Amino acid sequence: MAATAASSTAAPENLVIVGSGPAGYTAAIYAARANLRPVVITGFQDGGIPGGQLMTTTHVENFPGFPDGILGPELMDRLKAQALRWGTRLVEADADSIDLSQRPFRISADGETILANAVILATGASANRLGLPSEERFWNAGISACAICDGATPQFRDVELAVVGGGDSACEEAVYLTKYGSRVHLIVRGEQLRASKAMADRVLANPAISVHWNRQVVDCSGGAWMEAITLRDSNTGATEELAVRGLFYAIGHTPNTRLVKGQLEVDSYGYLVTRPGRPETSLEGVYAAGDVADAEWRQGITAAGSGCQAALAAERWLTHHNLAITVSHEPVDPAAVGEPKRTAESDETNYDPNALWQKGSYALRKLYHDSSKPLLVVYTSPTCGPCHVLKPQLKRVLEELGGRAQGVEIDIEADREIAEQAGVTGTPTVQLFFQKELKQQFRGVKQRSEFRAAIEGLLGAAVG
Ligand code: NDP
Repeated sequence: MAATAASSTAAPENLVIVGSGPAGYTAAIYAARANLRPVVITGFQDGGIPGGQLMTTTHVENFPGFPDGILGPELMDRLKAQALRWGTRLVEADADSIDLSQRPFRISADGETILANAVILATGASANRLGLPSEERFWNAGISACAICDGATPQFRDVELAVVGGGDSACEEAVYLTKYGSRVHLIVRGEQLRASKAMADRVLANPAISVHWNRQVVDCSGGAWMEAITLRDSNTGATEELAVRGLFYAIGHTPNTRLVKGQLEVDSYGYLVTRPGRPETSLEGVYAAGDVADAEWRQGITAAGSGCQAALAAERWLTHHNLAITVSHEPVDPAAVGEPKRTAESDETNYDPNALWQKGSYALRKLYHDSSKPLLVVYTSPTCGPCHVLKPQLKRVLEELGGRAQGVEIDIEADREIAEQAGVTGTPTVQLFFQKELKQQFRGVKQRSEFRAAIEGLLGAAVG
């Protein structure tokens, strides 16, 4: 999207952090506690979802402090809440442009130009695609970039599935998919798994997983839904067909440095170059944290650690140059965040015909038949990180519309038949109904403005 922001006359911010994975939020926690009142541009669709790669993983077993593991999206919720508690301002949008050619630096996002004395780039890395000849045709019709988000969809149940890749992601996804598929084929281009020993052992010991060594996926085929993939033997060049109904990509990532291209030094793979072991980039006052500058370690905890380093370095630099304008916390100890509240499943005892947001098939049936308002139905699955991102956005749209539309959440694991009838092929899927008719469908995370415009369009047409 082109930058449309008007030039800003506002005073420069101390520090703008671009990105909201563990690196971005840890930087925000440190900067906020140093009274710098940082701004975090969370990102939205460009370069992955807010919260970063932990949003598309299940159990994180190696982040210190959680002896029994924690779900990736829950960990990110906690980091975000901690950053907010200490006074971070969030801009929940993609950064459209970053101009480092003048000081203060200029970053545009969500129609706003934000001036910044210091910047931390924590934009992470995006999942790679294979670029198969039939990729577009079978995207969301068999091919998925997120097993954790899409594995539970009805089309993948009790059928053979394939995962391509040999790293920790591929192994984790292969194991995860054995919950749903009848057999999982792991397609590895080389002779060994790059994954950690523990993860590799788990795959090799799993009788429901077949590993195909020295194989490359060259294309896929089928009708309306994918039915087979074509594999090429890396040694002999011979090809073979493998009948699978799902193909999940787990082939690594590319750093998100497009917005600073030509402005900062990057290496031959596009990673930001920093001073060895330090967060400083090639430009004073600009720091890097997390996977955008790390082709090697790429762990949640190393990203968080580098976010801490970047915030401390930025704070020192701002203070040294007399640029920091600090804001004291009021109260000194902000209120505790507490545990997140969850929506209870509606039944005849607690169903409310006027509620803005409800959960489950009972509420869906009642609202579909009885409500005269536009109805947003969001299909989610328990481990789907993007669903986690989308739900609060949808609730916000409904709140902004002041009760003129309603929402229902359907967990496709709990209400499998409903998902099947609705033709849901992945989560999140949002269907917009009005007067018992499906008016529009949205796949994946979309901007609030799109949902709002669709609902307002229906309301306007009904009045006119
Ligand atoms: P990696 O870069 O570690 O692995 C990518 C894999 O994809 C490699 O096996 C690579 O093959 C393969 N690959 C790349 N391109 C192609 C292609 N065109 N065709 C076929 N195969 C291809 O990425 P991951 O996403 O797996 O992991 C990233 C980081 O996140 C790692 O540090 C990992 O440890 C971490 N991680 C940790 C998890 C956990 O602890 N729970 C879970 C997931 C990730 P080759 O080996 O031949 O290069």
